[in-house]
Amino acid sequence: MANETKQPLVQVKELCKYFHVSRTAELKAVDGVSFDIYKGETVSLVGESGCGKSTTGRCMIRLYEPTKGQVIYDGKDITKLSKEEQKAFCKKVQMIFQNPYASLNPRMTVKEIVGEGLKQHGMSREEVDKKVEALLETVGLNKDHMSRFPHEFSGGQRQRIGIARALSVDPEFIICDEPISALDVSIQAQVINMLKHLQETMGLTYLFIAHDLSVVKYISDRVVVMYLGTLVETAETEELYANPAHPYTKALLSAIPEADPKKAKANERIPIKGEIPSPINPKNCCRFAERCQYATDRCFSEMPKLREVAPGHMAACHLLDK
Ligand code: SF4
Repeated sequence: MANETKQPLVQVKELCKYFHVSRTAELKAVDGVSFDIYKGETVSLVGESGCGKSTTGRCMIRLYEPTKGQVIYDGKDITKLSKEEQKAFCKKVQMIFQNPYASLNPRMTVKEIVGEGLKQHGMSREEVDKKVEALLETVGLNKDHMSRFPHEFSGGQRQRIGIARALSVDPEFIICDEPISALDVSIQAQVINMLKHLQETMGLTYLFIAHDLSVVKYISDRVVVMYLGTLVETAETEELYANPAHPYTKALLSAIPEADPKKAKANERIPIKGEIPSPINPKNCCRFAERCQYATDRCFSEMPKLREVAPGHMAACHLLDK
């Protein structure tokens, strides 16, 4: 695999983020997650709400400080950067948020929103105007939109404004935190295609966070599946969709709607019992055990380790020991 010889742009190593919710209760939002992201690729982080994927993304941009573990960006631990390095990191790494309604300040014009980062990085007014205009064109808007306010736009247009804001400081790496889940289905494909196009033309690297596997197939090079704070499976996209190894991944894939009625009939939907359990004081066992149709006594007493099931394909399930 080509990536084996390259240095990752981002390394997430045994990352943990715990929140103390009371004297005796600890919410383990992220619990020992490791994965790499190489320059120019898109890694998707997938799992149900509450699995820790957004918390992982937030630790990677220092919106949260990790409890344990490391995030290494371009060879440096992001919690140990000098002031100058931190300033450069803030430019290189940007985030696009899930809710384009909540993430834009309603009192600011589009020009102010998109140009905010540019001013902080020392550009003159004229330079800011020019760059904002160019950025709006890049995301499919135009200069007539500059003096308008967020409420004057549709959801898809607001997400485009959020993307223009993220692009304004010429980032290398963008964390896209469920950027399309609040949008109409008809708009979702447009935003995905735009993100792909931007990646190709600007050489961007993405972490794409999503709650199901249906949307990430066409944008991802690799997929990381999380369940209740832990990483349960990771592989290159084609391999994961063709040969899923973990019962949770198989269930997520079986839930993807199939347009072809013949294939839909042949695909059996694998049910997942109940709701995702609480991540507060989780037991040291397979976190999926309560909902897994294959669970045995061992699954309730021992945490499965990630093991390689094919080159570059890892999964954590006791069934794979057989
Ligand atoms: Fe299911 Fe056991 Fe595998 Fe967990 S370790 S996914 S409970 S079979």
